[in-house]
Amino acid sequence: QKESLPKPDWLRIKLTTGGNYAELKDMMRSKTLHTVCEEARCPNIYECWANRTATFMILGDICTRACRFCAVTTGMPTELDLEEPERVADAAEQMGLKHCVITSVARDDLADGGAMIFAETIKAVRKRMPLCSVEVLIPDFLGNMDALQTVMDANPDILNHNIETVERLSDRVRAKAKYSRSMELLKRAKEMKPEIPTKSSIMLGVGEEWDEILQAMDDLRAHDVNILTLGQYLQPSPTHLAIDRYVHPDEFAQLKVEGLKRGFSHVESAPLVRSSYHAHEQVKSATEA
Ligand code: SF4
Ligand code: SF4
Repeated sequence: QKESLPKPDWLRIKLTTGGNYAELKDMMRSKTLHTVCEEARCPNIYECWANRTATFMILGDICTRACRFCAVTTGMPTELDLEEPERVADAAEQMGLKHCVITSVARDDLADGGAMIFAETIKAVRKRMPLCSVEVLIPDFLGNMDALQTVMDANPDILNHNIETVERLSDRVRAKAKYSRSMELLKRAKEMKPEIPTKSSIMLGVGEEWDEILQAMDDLRAHDVNILTLGQYLQPSPTHLAIDRYVHPDEFAQLKVEGLKRGFSHVESAPLVRSSYHAHEQVKSATEA
């Protein structure tokens, strides 16, 4: 285990609670919904919620996998909750969301990996809030392309699937997921619905080399992935994967240039960028591209 590195200045941010944050938090409790914003203690929560973007975690809060960077509890997931899509739509409506991100734990215990609930949630939010864009951040469904088709048929505004890291480190950082399977999923999503923007994310600071990041960008572009987000990995607890280094904001800026050069329509690249950060703007630039 590597000794923990001192936090650089650019990550010491001042949290300001503003506006209706407390009210939204209470509402979330009363609906027994989980947001990644809260559970991952995302540093962008005040800004995102004020800008009417939130990320819901569906299909429970217990994951069948145990990725070394992730704070979600591993175990046997809870029974499928068929009311969940409506409750997410309810919450999205009460929050007045402009952009709703839906993600889930990996449900390898379900034949379709939870794809049907993803599709129902997209439809429920759409029905209630036709102007709210809906992004799904999906697991790899263990490569089940029928499951992917179920999600694509519900026409999300953005199909997001994170590769998380470069190819060499993939097996070490992610549990059960495979770099090639993730690439295949992004490729097939684009083939199924070319008009739906695809998106992926890489966290930096887990030991990747500069050229490997560029290679991952090239691999994503080879499958016409449109949107890329890059952010700093932060260790959720001392037992999780150690941080290899803090990537300087200037490097993030350089990587943004590299990404745009390669043809991504939108690149968010900065230490605190998370997959859904400024997601609303990403829909706009991807559809205008
Ligand atoms: Fe929530 Fe994503 Fe914003 Fe973080 S970046 S607060 S997870 S919507
Ligand atoms: Fe966390 Fe997703 Fe890995 Fe599960 S599959 S442990 S939720 S990153």
